[in-house]
Amino acid sequence: MKVYDKLIFEISKPGRRGYQLPADKFDTDGFAEIPGALLRQTPAALPEVSELDVVRHYTNLSAKNFGVDTGFYPLGSCTMKYNPKINEELAAMPEFAGLHPLQDPRSAQGALELYWNLQRALSSLAGLAEFTLNPYAGAHGELTGLMVMRSYHMQRGDLKRTKVIVPDTAHGTNPASAMVAGLEVVEVKSKPNGSIDVEDLRPLLDDTVAGIMMTNPNTLGMFETEIMEIAALVHEAGGLLYYDGANFNPLLGKVRPGDMGFDIMHINLHKTFSTPHGGGGPGAGPVGVAAHLTHLLPNPKVVRRDDGTFDIETSGECLGRVSTFFGNFGVLMKAYAYILSLGRDEIGKVGPMATLNANYIKESLRDLYKLPIEGHCKHEFVFDGLADKSTGVTTLNVAKRLLDFGFHAPTIYFPLLFHESMMIEPTESESLETLDEFIDVMRRVAHEAAETPDVVKNAPMTTIISHPDETGAAKNPILTYRDMLSAAN
Ligand SMILES: *Cc1c(COP(=O)(O)O)cnc(C)c1O
Repeated sequence: MKVYDKLIFEISKPGRRGYQLPADKFDTDGFAEIPGALLRQTPAALPEVSELDVVRHYTNLSAKNFGVDTGFYPLGSCTMKYNPKINEELAAMPEFAGLHPLQDPRSAQGALELYWNLQRALSSLAGLAEFTLNPYAGAHGELTGLMVMRSYHMQRGDLKRTKVIVPDTAHGTNPASAMVAGLEVVEVKSKPNGSIDVEDLRPLLDDTVAGIMMTNPNTLGMFETEIMEIAALVHEAGGLLYYDGANFNPLLGKVRPGDMGFDIMHINLHKTFSTPHGGGGPGAGPVGVAAHLTHLLPNPKVVRRDDGTFDIETSGECLGRVSTFFGNFGVLMKAYAYILSLGRDEIGKVGPMATLNANYIKESLRDLYKLPIEGHCKHEFVFDGLADKSTGVTTLNVAKRLLDFGFHAPTIYFPLLFHESMMIEPTESESLETLDEFIDVMRRVAHEAAETPDVVKNAPMTTIISHPDETGAAKNPILTYRDMLSAAN
């Protein structure tokens, strides 16, 4: 192993220093104001390294990572689009980043105006009356939206409504959020073409149903063409419609969930509205509601007074709080900058371009990969592995082999409807040349699978780790360097 590939603690040498604080300012007397009981008695066990060691170590680490800034990242359901750097610069402006969430609203008028404007912009894109920007992520938005749904029924004294209908293709967070919100999950089946089976839905709709959760286009990238009928049926039965907005990208500026009959939705700003994600970084899951639900949105609320100034309000009628303050403000700023930089007309081109790119890849590969669902997809689609499965090369093998060619893998083994799912979402930001290169590599891997299957089965060869134990990493994480060293020895 190269020296800078090691743990930074392993390259530590006693006495080595990167930086010295001026002794006259930071001698023990300098800490006189800190109560003795809070002062550390023994030095922290930090690595002792030079500045050069630190720079090389982290620069080398960063180069081992894969990101949308290093290559094509067709991870289905995640909308890994390019995030313009100008948005980062704006979000880092000290005038905004330096604000304190408890400062007097009169001294934060610009930030509150931005907040209010973003709420309005999302409302107009979604066709819903009002948004809260407080939730921190998509799943958090789902929970908030389902709490709105539940409160709505409870406030009307309709206490029997405890069930939420969730399609069998739904993202795992949907049933999980419903459970956390104290609702019971009922599954509705999909038809062979991937859309909700209205005949299966009908008998589920009774006076115990609080609502239905849907994504449209659904997880298979197909638009639910019967949505108006589904909305009418659910509303007739007294339920509400929840829209999982993680798949909002292909509809942006063209189709509005509110017009399809949805009452509540969340938007993943870190998918559709250009915040880098994938490593678990900060996100935002604003929740929008139709007019009859606005009183339930959580505190705090940003409002505009008649004199044009902005203020913060809390109300006793709503859910209470779902976040400490106002959500992830930096992420909100990026979304706002993104929306303004595209403008009303350009934003309507995002969805069609994402849709065109997805269909282009699908049609260019369908002779070599199994396409379980025919027809025009929206922003993403699913292959059920290789068309020729006789050599035993799996979706996992293909995904690993793509890494050798510098492409991130698609989403694999989701949705669960097919055994060898491979979910591809190119987004609108990729050029024709990049798409063609990806198609060439996917074709090459399919040919390798037929001719030299072991090459694909043993991939990747170029990455430093090839087959990590993903479940073990999640269930038994090693979080300190000492544990890591003892695990290595
Ligand atoms: C990403 C995603 C979610 C969850 O969003 P997070 O921000 O990761 O919590 C929910 N539903 C769908 C369809 C998604 O793709």
